[in-house]
This record gives sequence, structure tokens and C-alpha cells, in this order.
Amino acid sequence: MAYTSDTIADLKLNTVCESAKCPNRTECWSHKTATLMIAGNVCTRPCGFCSIDKGKTEQLEIDEPQRVAEAAARLGLEHVVITSVTRDDLPDGGAEHWYQTVLAVRERTDASIEVLTPDFRGNVAAIDRVIEAKPDVFNHNTETVPRLYHRVRRNAEYQRTLDLLARVKEIEPDMPTKSGIMLGLGESIDEVLEVCADLRKVGCDMLTVGQYLQPTQEHLPVERYIPPEEFDSLGELLRTMGFGLVASGPFVRSSYHAGEMSDALKKS
Ligand code: SF4
Ligand code: SF4
Repeated sequence: MAYTSDTIADLKLNTVCESAKCPNRTECWSHKTATLMIAGNVCTRPCGFCSIDKGKTEQLEIDEPQRVAEAAARLGLEHVVITSVTRDDLPDGGAEHWYQTVLAVRERTDASIEVLTPDFRGNVAAIDRVIEAKPDVFNHNTETVPRLYHRVRRNAEYQRTLDLLARVKEIEPDMPTKSGIMLGLGESIDEVLEVCADLRKVGCDMLTVGQYLQPTQEHLPVERYIPPEEFDSLGELLRTMGFGLVASGPFVRSSYHAGEMSDALKKS
């Protein structure tokens, strides 16, 4: 774990593991797995569940793609997950920076690359630029059910998320897509199943379902802790809906065991 954190600090990078106070940090970092976060550490969106700082954003660092590639190489990552804050302040939402980062990692390593992107405000040219980089997995989370978007994912739109995932399949039908949803924010199981049916309609291949945990007192409260058995039975049910792979459990996060998920999908 110390090696991962030292490498990240040495290269002046951000990880969502730290910025979002992920509960899996010890496990993932000791297995040399990290989700690298590009385009700064400050987000332009005020999501009620997320502990990433909000406010004035920083300028994009032109050498960040190379530093991400260097981190992936030094850590010997076999599956690199790249994510970013949402940069609504940039005309392309940071898409070109995304593109350059994927290319830099590919040039430097043999790792498979998973992008966990923002919605780029539905800017199709921006989404297409990231697709053009040909990541191995295109991940974009729905996070919650549409009824709760105004509280949980303010400034996001449910349909926009579905449209983004649909666009990936339209341009690259063989590129695996992935999405994730948190439970415990006040959603009903029927609502969750409707979201999952919508995700299947746009061809989403992989799904993560995890428990929402309140990062600080200022964030949305947990409405319900779902017992592990309920996650198990929900996972079983979702597998019958045609997803290639479903990870469902209290500590499942979008990037949790992402490499194993991607490998398993390839073999399935
Ligand atoms: Fe966090 Fe993403 Fe919401 Fe920004 S857009 S606050 S990074 S979840
Ligand atoms: Fe980082 Fe993802 Fe692991 Fe959390 S689950 S520690 S965000 S790699």
C-alpha cells in the first residue's frame, strides 16, 4: 500500500480512492490497484453523495497523461482505471485530455484500460473523442434512480447517461460498456430494476451495485443499509436480465475488482 501511495504522491497524481474516501483502499492498494483521477481534484458538479471537492477548478496539466502512464508502468498495473472530475467549465469537458491520457497509457504499458467518464454534458463530439481512444471498457455510472437525480446527481440527467452508453455501442458495438448504481439512498427495488432494464436496452454489458456510505455529515444520509444476502439475491436476479457480468455487494464500487470483471467478461 505504501508503494502505491508513494508512487502516486511522487508523480503528483490524484486518485478517486483517496479523494472519494473509498472504503476499499487498503485492499486495492495492497494489490497495486488504483483509480487514477485526471483533470484536477476539484469538480464543477455538486453531487450530494460525493466527497470530491467542489469549487474553482484548476488548469489542465499538459504533462498529466504522461504521469498517469508513468504511474501505471511503475505500479505494474494490468488493468488501469482512469476517471476524472466533471469539467463543465471546459468546452470539451476535458475530452481531449482523456484521449491523450488513454493513448499515453497504451503507449507505455500493455495494461487494459477502463475509462470511467463524466457525461460531458451530452456533448457527442466529446464522447466520440474518448471512444476514438479505444479504451478496453467504457464505464459511466447512473449512480441512482431517476427520481433521486435532483438530490443525488444534481446537474446530471438520467437520459443523458443512457444516451452516452448507447452512443458507445453505436460507434463501437464491440466495446464493453459498464455502469454502476448505489443502493441505500431511498430508491425502491422496482426503481432499481427499471434502471437496470434501461441499461440493458442500451446494451450495457457490466453492472456494479454497491451500498452508499455517507462520506461526511454534510453529505446525503444513508436511508437504508442493505443486508449482504439482499445484494446476493439482487445480483442473481440482475444476471438473468442479460448483463454479461454483475458485481453486487455492500463494498462493491465502480472500480472494485475492475480488472477481474473485465477479464471475466472477455472469457464469458
Ligand atoms: Fe463527484 Fe463525479 Fe459528482 Fe463530481 S460529478 S461531484 S466527481 S460524482
Ligand atoms: Fe480505488 Fe476503486 Fe479500489 Fe475504491 S474500489 S480503492 S476507488 S480502485
